[in-house]
Amino acid sequence: MTEACADSAEVLILGAGPVGLTLHLALARYGITSRLLERRPLAALQADPRVLALSHGTRELLEQLDSWPAQAATPIETIHISQRGGFGRCLMTAKEQALPALGYVVRYRDLVSALSRHLAPDALYAEAEMLALEEDAQGVGLKLGQNADSVSLHGALIVHADGTPGADPLVSVRDYHQQAVICEVRPAQPHGQRAWERFTPDGPLALLPLGEEFSVVLTLPPAKAKEVMALDDAAFIAALEAQFGRHLGLCQASPRNCFPLALRMRRTLAQGRAVWIGNAAQTLHPVSGQGFNLGLRDAWQLAQTLLTEGCTPSALAHYARLRRCDRQGGALFTDTVVRTFSTDFAPIKWARGLGLYALDLFPPARQFVARRMIWGGRGG
Ligand SMILES: Cc1cc2nc3c(=O)[nH]c(=O)nc-3n(C[C@H](O)[C@H](O)[C@H](O)COP(=O)(O)OP(=O)(O)OC[C@H]3O[C@@H](n4cnc5c(N)ncnc54)[C@H](O)[C@@H]3O)c2cc1C
Repeated sequence: MTEACADSAEVLILGAGPVGLTLHLALARYGITSRLLERRPLAALQADPRVLALSHGTRELLEQLDSWPAQAATPIETIHISQRGGFGRCLMTAKEQALPALGYVVRYRDLVSALSRHLAPDALYAEAEMLALEEDAQGVGLKLGQNADSVSLHGALIVHADGTPGADPLVSVRDYHQQAVICEVRPAQPHGQRAWERFTPDGPLALLPLGEEFSVVLTLPPAKAKEVMALDDAAFIAALEAQFGRHLGLCQASPRNCFPLALRMRRTLAQGRAVWIGNAAQTLHPVSGQGFNLGLRDAWQLAQTLLTEGCTPSALAHYARLRRCDRQGGALFTDTVVRTFSTDFAPIKWARGLGLYALDLFPPARQFVARRMIWGGRGG
């Protein structure tokens, strides 16, 4: 390996997923320099199969960064929520919230492309591996390997935006014993910008409007997920309709991908000159599409805190306190939904049916849930 140049910026960001990219752009907007270090090649980022439901609040923040992927976003005008084999259903509408849409559905790759548009060529080290990290009173020094070269980077702070953490004693884990099978399917009739969220004893099932298709997130116990992954397309559609019903006339399934699901919460967000944001700070169940929306608010808040307080360890500690309510609220919300709805226990089934009816009958209750989904902690 050849020893190459040294480079410096105020902030070093590990991970150029959508949260790392958002932070880089938000910092640049405030005149704070940063460098992104990404393990994957850019082509791999643009082949990520995930599809994200983004809230209206997220759209507003991305618009401020001139990174809203308008052409690639499908609006959600209504959300229909129900449970399989039980009574109760609820309909939420954008009109009731006085918004153009309750949310938007975007491919991960289109979001990354929109965020990468404004990247300066020297801002990103892609296909790079962190070889060493040192922290002292002045800042952090990072040695990275890229191809056959090594680069020394220096900054005041390091931000971990490197996605779902592996085993770490500082991260609590609740395994849901569920996996998300994702793909796209075509409905017989136009979807009318309606999203469907259906709770089943196996786990939640979401159909999100995406272009002319639905993006499917089918949550199942691992053994069933394995079976479903092995089915041919016609048998897969039949399995999907067994959970959802046949009224949409679903057909033409795209190739499937599978993600294991757990709640992972980092206990301490800031330590010295290091801070964790996005999935690296909290990885949530995908039910109700909170993960990236929360991670984007992490990036936004961090940029604002560094602007007003400087790139110091005390600013990071303050940032961690500011994020407590939103991240814990997001985790509690998704965790409660998953645990309440993924059971067939009769009294709970009745109670959640009543809950869905109550949500449908009482606009203030619907307003509360909708605002939590649209604005996060600042809207609850
Ligand atoms: C099935 C599924 C459906 C989802 N649906 C939604 C949804 O509808 N709405 C929503 O808001 N969220 C959703 N999410 C969550 C969303 O995908 C994540 O919250 C979001 O991608 C987090 O972004 P991130 O940048 O923090 O992490 P990631 O997107 O995971 O990116 C992390 C980046 O860091 C890089 N990296 C990792 N380690 C290193 C290293 N050591 N050095 C350098 N780089 C490194 C990785 O290569 C990657 O590019 C869903 C998740 C799943 C699994």
